[in-house]
Amino acid sequence: MDTRPGITIIGSGFAGLGMAIKLKEAGYHDFVILEKAGELGGTWRDNTYPGCACDVPSHMYSFSYELNPGWSRMFSPQAEIRDYLRSCAVRYGLEPHLRFGREVVGLEYDDAARDWRVSLAGGERFTTNAVISAIGALHVPSLPDIPGRETFTGPSFHSAGWDHSADLTGRRVAVVGTGASAVQFVPRLARQASRLHLFQRTPPWIQPKPDFAFSPRARRLLALPGAARALRTSIYWALETRALGFAVDPRLMRVHEASARRHLAAQVPDPELRARLTPDYTIGCKRILISNDYYPALTRDNVEVITDGVREIRESSIVDARGRETEVDAIVYGTGFKVTDALNEQRIVGRDGRKIQEAWQGGVEAYYGITTTGFPNLFFLLGPNTGLGHNSVVFMIEAQVRYVLDCLRLLSRTGARALDVRPEAQRAYNDRLRARLERLVWSEGGCRSWYLDEHGVNRTIWPGFTFEYWARTRRPVHAAFELIR
Ligand SMILES: Cc1cc2nc3c(=O)[nH]c(=O)nc-3n(C[C@H](O)[C@H](O)[C@H](O)COP(=O)(O)OP(=O)(O)OC[C@H]3O[C@@H](n4cnc5c(N)ncnc54)[C@H](O)[C@@H]3O)c2cc1C
Repeated sequence: MDTRPGITIIGSGFAGLGMAIKLKEAGYHDFVILEKAGELGGTWRDNTYPGCACDVPSHMYSFSYELNPGWSRMFSPQAEIRDYLRSCAVRYGLEPHLRFGREVVGLEYDDAARDWRVSLAGGERFTTNAVISAIGALHVPSLPDIPGRETFTGPSFHSAGWDHSADLTGRRVAVVGTGASAVQFVPRLARQASRLHLFQRTPPWIQPKPDFAFSPRARRLLALPGAARALRTSIYWALETRALGFAVDPRLMRVHEASARRHLAAQVPDPELRARLTPDYTIGCKRILISNDYYPALTRDNVEVITDGVREIRESSIVDARGRETEVDAIVYGTGFKVTDALNEQRIVGRDGRKIQEAWQGGVEAYYGITTTGFPNLFFLLGPNTGLGHNSVVFMIEAQVRYVLDCLRLLSRTGARALDVRPEAQRAYNDRLRARLERLVWSEGGCRSWYLDEHGVNRTIWPGFTFEYWARTRRPVHAAFELIR
């Protein structure tokens, strides 16, 4: 390991790679990208379940400066996105900076040296001036706390760690969870399994997916100057209109609800099943999903939707809340990720020996989701309240990368060694954010989702248009920072 890199990026997903590309472009070459896995790609390396694809159109779900006219579909599959990230790493010369198999287990700020001490699994330690945490918001799988889960003897795994050695063909499979991943893999699994028992706690709202393959001719056209850019721009604005419902007035969500209801009615003729699949909360309160084949899969003869909840798991069966026992050969958990708790469980010690858990006693928060007071030169990408339910997070990542670069330039210009956001700036920003969130669909929509922390506070989603975030983070307000010399 390099003895003393100036900048350390943790993670090699869209965020870590995007940061590295722009660092290099700005003339910063003294950095490393630490990745705990054996290869890059983050989300798009780990999620290999059948049917895995993005749910924001590929021409928008990619870097704005690295358009790809060759995307095979409107919503490209996982392997294609992973390959896109790999090709970015090669094209932008990131390989010499990547260090695989390096898991960061601790960060400690040295008040005297004004540097960070980075500890890796295995005991290695080194110092660095700035740390950019790009560890991913949807990275740590969340498994449900169901009694007996460990006693199950057949294959059982989370969708983010799909066990491809388990052949589920002709087997009786239980799926627990009906979130964004399950909606993608359930249709495939339903065709493969002899029986599929889908345990649903809360039904998602689902809209049609405007997916199609680009013909070779369409791809040739998209390679013409300006064509892919024009498509991206039109997708961006089409997706931004979806923010109207939460950024302006939740009542505007009714348009989306009507479209989702029509989709359900068209695809599920059985009124009893339809009733079980109809959410009882305002659309948008949980992530709105898109699929054309999920509902049809649930109408198959070999598929059963169970809404009674799981009470217990036994060696070869699942018992629902009404006591009905179902024999199964395998269990797949589509139960999502640890979001705020994954951020909060990190071992980070800032100024004056203060742990991040102390700083975040009242809840996880940061200034524009990027810096948090008491932790100088520590930058988060896709940190608190910068996730999205309506557009591509790559857009948010790019805004944050530009902001971090401006902060680093400020240090170079002023000769300061570190910068720390002032507590009053962070307080004022978060007060405004909370006041705004209180009135919106996530708090008022009548659901519980991973957007909310254990106190029911939204610590994950940016509550507005993305162009607003872009404009607000366009230039760091220097007065908001203390410069440490
Ligand atoms: C199945 C799925 C589909 C999605 N589809 C979309 C979509 O269509 N549109 C959209 O906007 N968003 C989507 N998302 C959200 C997605 O996570 C983000 O779009 C994006 O990929 C996040 O990139 P990232 O670099 O922040 O994090 P990640 O891709 O999660 O990368 C984080 C990296 O950090 C590494 N890491 C973590 N901790 C450490 C450590 N301590 N030390 C060293 N390395 C570490 C991880 O191994 C990983 O490689 C999807 C998420 C999932 C799970």
